[in-house]
Amino acid sequence: MKPRERVALSRPVADEVRKTTCYMCACRCGINVHIKDGKIRYIEGNRDHPVNKGVLCAKGSAGIMQHYAPARLRAPLKRVGPRGSGQFQEISWEEALSLAVEWLGTVRADDPKKLAFFTGRDQSQSLTGFWAQQFGTPNYAAHGGFCSVNMAAAGIMTIGGAFWEFGAPDWERTKLFVMFGVAEDHDSNPIKMGIAKLKKRGARFVSVNPIRTGYSAVADNWIGIRPGTDGLLILSVVHELLKARRIDVDYLVRYTNATWLVIDAPGTAEHGLFARDGEGKPLVHETVTEQIVPLGTKGARVALSGRVQLDDGRFAVPSFQLLAEKYLDEKYAPEAVAAETGVKAETIRGLAAEIARVAFEEEIFVEQPWTDMNGQRHQGYVGRPVSFHAMRGLSAHSNGFQTTRALHMLQVLIGAIDCPGGFRFEPPYPKPLSAHPTPHGKAEHFGSNTPLSGPHLGFPRGPEDLLVDSQGRPTRIDKAFSWDAPIAAHGMMHMVIANAHAGDPYPVDVLFMYMANMAWNSSMNTAGTIKMLEEKDEATGEYRIPKIIYADAYASEMVAYADLVLPDTTYLERYDCISLLDRPISEPDAVQDAIRWPVLEPDRDVRAFQTVLLDLGARLNLPGFSDGHGRALYKDYADYIVRHERRPGIGPLAGFRGLNGERAGRGAANRRQMERYIENGSFFSAHIPMEAQFFKHANQAYQDFAVRMGFFDTPQPVTFQLYQEALQKFRLSAEGLREPVAPETHRERIMQAFDPLPVWYRPLGEAMVDRSAYPYHAVTQRPAAMYHSWGSMNAWLRQIHTRNPLYVPGPICDELGLKDGDWAWVSSHHGRIKVEVARMEAVNASTLWTWNAIGKRAGTWALDRNVPEARKGFLLNHLIHELLPPREDGLRLSNSDPVTGQAAWYDLRVHIEKAEVGPVSEPHLPPVAQPEPEPHPTELRYGQEWAQ
Ligand code: SF4
Repeated sequence: MKPRERVALSRPVADEVRKTTCYMCACRCGINVHIKDGKIRYIEGNRDHPVNKGVLCAKGSAGIMQHYAPARLRAPLKRVGPRGSGQFQEISWEEALSLAVEWLGTVRADDPKKLAFFTGRDQSQSLTGFWAQQFGTPNYAAHGGFCSVNMAAAGIMTIGGAFWEFGAPDWERTKLFVMFGVAEDHDSNPIKMGIAKLKKRGARFVSVNPIRTGYSAVADNWIGIRPGTDGLLILSVVHELLKARRIDVDYLVRYTNATWLVIDAPGTAEHGLFARDGEGKPLVHETVTEQIVPLGTKGARVALSGRVQLDDGRFAVPSFQLLAEKYLDEKYAPEAVAAETGVKAETIRGLAAEIARVAFEEEIFVEQPWTDMNGQRHQGYVGRPVSFHAMRGLSAHSNGFQTTRALHMLQVLIGAIDCPGGFRFEPPYPKPLSAHPTPHGKAEHFGSNTPLSGPHLGFPRGPEDLLVDSQGRPTRIDKAFSWDAPIAAHGMMHMVIANAHAGDPYPVDVLFMYMANMAWNSSMNTAGTIKMLEEKDEATGEYRIPKIIYADAYASEMVAYADLVLPDTTYLERYDCISLLDRPISEPDAVQDAIRWPVLEPDRDVRAFQTVLLDLGARLNLPGFSDGHGRALYKDYADYIVRHERRPGIGPLAGFRGLNGERAGRGAANRRQMERYIENGSFFSAHIPMEAQFFKHANQAYQDFAVRMGFFDTPQPVTFQLYQEALQKFRLSAEGLREPVAPETHRERIMQAFDPLPVWYRPLGEAMVDRSAYPYHAVTQRPAAMYHSWGSMNAWLRQIHTRNPLYVPGPICDELGLKDGDWAWVSSHHGRIKVEVARMEAVNASTLWTWNAIGKRAGTWALDRNVPEARKGFLLNHLIHELLPPREDGLRLSNSDPVTGQAAWYDLRVHIEKAEVGPVSEPHLPPVAQPEPEPHPTELRYGQEWAQ
């Protein structure tokens, strides 16, 4: 077929077009940057790019104003006045790096855990994690703990993958798409494009979300659920499917642990664990011979139900029987959950019926012979065209881990994982839990001037892998992987400042952060966090967190609290690597990664943070960064991306490897790799053969492909874990039956939250406050035009959101006499804010909400002190405490999911009352002085000289 002729969408406006990757949000679209006379003239979407295929959102095109923002930092800074005073002195890079090396070197020699190194929403975690490991501190993580670790942890522990970066709906074939909670804030353009495809094909889109904005506004059906109850709704759908026997039994037998026998021996250390043979293979019940045989026994017809006696005399049942008994309980009937969820019983029943109808009556068959891991040949792929998507809306609750497990269980029960029309894995996923590391950070894992013995983050397989000392005390500053949050797979960045300030579990000497606006929108209890950063130890007169190094490109609120500021470049001035070792941009049909490169040279005394980190690594003589004599192994980040190898032949980029660039995945480092990426539009894509595209978890051809590409060294098929044994091990510890035994203080919550089958419980914060005193929920959403506070200084995006009213449901407005533009006091158990309100009808009746990260601290981001963001914008964060309210025994635990440590932003309960009119939102913190910004005009215009 003749390729369709391309129509130029815009008149040529540039001398040159440079293709790179957008970084105005985390989605990583391809962009063409038009440059004329050395300046950016225009940014458009790259139509050849696999992520966005030319689509560009408002943020992406406004990258031009991000690049030229007056808020850009312009040189390294050393604090010379008190913290928060904004008194800084510009210093040279040599002075800045020497100071950093002095602070870091002392800590490394003395006690490496006294460095806490945490990064925000950067895209270089494979480098930063490696650096922290070589440094030897146990205290490293990125932002995932307050973002969406519940999605990642629940997904990996259940199906070996997760939504967004690890998988996507089959947009081309799905006939019913159900989206839970706030989800559009990740994978922005691909979801827009996907929904457009659904609309064109007439596929149905159902949105379950307390608020009908964004994608929910174009859904065919909107279910305005009460926040924090999605898990209960999902389990009720499961109840209906089980009752109607509308599940895919073949799929369960073939791909899940539904047949595995679970030991039924209450009061013993193995109760609830899988029965295994001497080699550790799970046992199943073979129904023809009525024998107990190891999983995988040829020709076995295995049972999904029935109580059997094991050779040792104990009894066992298939895990599916436990599952069915649990969810067939009438407490999950639609009528029983309607009041709690705020969703009518007939709506739940209708949703379940529609899921079952589409899955089983609109089955798809794609003719393509393929072979499964048992060697069985299939003539094609059977598809159940129901797909789901969810992100932070489910994740940011303290029951989010189990809610997400419930959603994956629902997908598995109808056989809709990695099939045509369902949710599909994106390489290098799926990956079984066994292919992930356990966390490192116990006392024996680190020591003076020594690298950590393994990666910081991972998945404990049981309480024996917790990072606690012999007394059960946490060894990490954020208390991740302790009894507080045993499976904190992404760390708990939101607890670092509070714990370091309290010296609990120990004080740190240096806090080193990158791209994390912790003095404002990235922390719970914002005003409290600022105080912690400012507070001094009475005895020593030193700050309680003695040294803070902060790297950022812009004058954000956090800058004023740093002692040493390392100015980063903009995303158009540096190399970056969107790596398969990190957070990939693959599609279900293709392996993909990408780069950024300096399409413009910095005009200020700034350096790319990743290059600075490499430099610090060399100066500190860290293995992997220095030759041992202080000489750097890498010239800069580009050099590292090309030459660093994690395993022989496996580096940060998968494309154009081998001496001549002819290899993909595995291969020698290629000197010209960076040029090849740039020539190719800054990305690499390798298609997965059709025989390997579906059922990747059990597809021989895909597993071979994954080994060839270097994802694994041997095939790593995944068996979906409906029943999660690792969770049961924690429950046994909580019962005192397994070593190490859980502390008394944590037993009850472990018994509640670590159910090996998905469970729903009322979010912890909500359950602990007086619900009549705080009768409403309050949540935030990320607007389509602003990614966190990243657009705070962007002259174009600011015009879309300069203030954020609190949206209040119509009936509450009527009751309180509130109308648009009125003001209200909103209070929680922790604090009180005064805000402007707006009436809204398309919202759950007990839910107030606002856009996040619009409110600004006066004096920051090089904005005028009286900008609307600082006068009328506000943060809900002031109402949320990083700790739960005190329990009866006085203990205050982190306001997080008790399994993963995910920050529970969305558990907030509030009271609202009418207030006198403005003029400013409260709390209105005094303006913070900042380093002198670049001179900027009072009216910001751009490109006038080209307009003629
Ligand atoms: S969705 Fe994100 S990455 Fe894509 S163009 Fe918009 S801002 Fe850029």
